[in-house]
Amino acid sequence: MRVKNVPEMLTGLLFPRRCPVCDRPVKPFGEYACTECIRKVRPISPPRCLKCGKKIRSESALCTDCTQRKRYFDRGRILYEYDDAAGSVYRFKYSGRREYAESYARDTVRYLGDYIASEKPDVLVPIPIHRKRYRKRGYNQAFEYAEALSRLTDIPVGNDIIKRVKNTIPLKLLGVSERQINLKNAFIVPENVVKLNKVMLVDDIFTTGASINEAARVLKMAGVREVCFVTLAGGAGI
Ligand SMILES: [Zn+2]
Ligand SMILES: [Zn+2]
Repeated sequence: MRVKNVPEMLTGLLFPRRCPVCDRPVKPFGEYACTECIRKVRPISPPRCLKCGKKIRSESALCTDCTQRKRYFDRGRILYEYDDAAGSVYRFKYSGRREYAESYARDTVRYLGDYIASEKPDVLVPIPIHRKRYRKRGYNQAFEYAEALSRLTDIPVGNDIIKRVKNTIPLKLLGVSERQINLKNAFIVPENVVKLNKVMLVDDIFTTGASINEAARVLKMAGVREVCFVTLAGGAGI
């Protein structure tokens, strides 16, 4: 049992941590996800697109999206296959299940730890949500994930590096080209970030990559040399 101190144990008994897979109190107590459940969620395995990390069918180096569209990020990795993790990520985002972040971060280090270490980013930057949405939701899921990841990797979180200045329409309601237009001028970089060599963006879902790409664009414009990313889940590429 991984219990560090008495208050933490009492809190755990009163408000048992929920499993990101089955959403019931974690079994055995003290873990971050049920040992039975976590096996069912598969991390994305190769062959992957060398740019966005999406699972691709053939051994070709890039997925169709990365071949056809301008990518401002240098490269990135996606942890889980979307179909396996969709329900979990949805609850993490919309049903107040911030506690899932711990389990997600642990799996990220387990499967993508070598990748993160090889990138050696100066800072982890969560994709921000607009303050109106923040007020409604009470937290930014990407920040929770980045914070949990930071505790395990000792890479600091830069929560103020990108600011969301436009409250965009939820991307899931839009098509590919609409997403990019919708996000135009959504982010700004308010401070001088020229000193940053490499930023690792952190987000929940990578679908077309519109948010990551737009955030990477503003960071590069502001003088950041390299932008990579990790996200929790993403669909397969072609
Ligand atoms: Zn479970
Ligand atoms: Zn790709």
